[in-house]
Amino acid sequence: MRDKIVAGNWKMNLNFEDAIQLGTNLNAWVADNQPDAQVIISPSSIYLQVLLEAVDEQYVKVASQDISAHDKGAYTGDISGEQLDSIGLDFAIIGHSERREYQGETDAIIAEKLKQAFKNQINPIFCIGEKLEEREAEQHFEVVKSQLLNALKSQNIEDLSRLIIAYEPVWAIGTGKTASPEQAQEIHAYIRKVLNDEFGVEVANETSILYGGSVNAQNANDIFSQPDIDGGLVGGASLKYEDFIQIIAACK
Ligand code: PGA
Repeated sequence: MRDKIVAGNWKMNLNFEDAIQLGTNLNAWVADNQPDAQVIISPSSIYLQVLLEAVDEQYVKVASQDISAHDKGAYTGDISGEQLDSIGLDFAIIGHSERREYQGETDAIIAEKLKQAFKNQINPIFCIGEKLEEREAEQHFEVVKSQLLNALKSQNIEDLSRLIIAYEPVWAIGTGKTASPEQAQEIHAYIRKVLNDEFGVEVANETSILYGGSVNAQNANDIFSQPDIDGGLVGGASLKYEDFIQIIAACK
């Protein structure tokens, strides 16, 4: 069946020492407690390699927060899929709403980034989700469908076996407001239906769909108990060891 996944998106937080400490502590906890969920941490890129060495990949996987849309060459500041693959990295967050907003990432750019991930055997955690005004105008189904199809239509269907989706309503990210478990389930079921209609039953049944947006130790249980929610992409609460381990434990 589908993988259960809890991924911590550390964003632009933690200095070097704190990042290593948190990664090492999580690794020890996962080794001792053997949770059902696959645990992924996503630090700033300067810490990726050291964290890959500091954790045991059977317990904790490491993800980049982005990947270049290009193969190689004159793209100052970018990191290519090939480079990420060459340090042993297997996961990348792609299309996070903060990158869509502040770095102007469009669906077309995100489609290229997904291609680079697939080409380099990297499993993308592909983020989609509507803004507050779109939810209020009841356009959230349409928005999510077009984000999905614009990025996925041009991919090879075989590559979609690597796909992980994170549904993150923008109005719930870092705001303390979460979608209710019912609201989240409704849209996760819809995402699965779109996958089924466009890419077939296998992709629909096998793609893990994570919820993100103010997941915390208190609400994780209710969110993760929904049938189409396969785990979470956690920002703020993933920086606090005690909170994050409770969230991991809630994902069964
Ligand atoms: P949050 O962030 O948990 O702090 O809301 C989630 C995310 O942006 O991935």
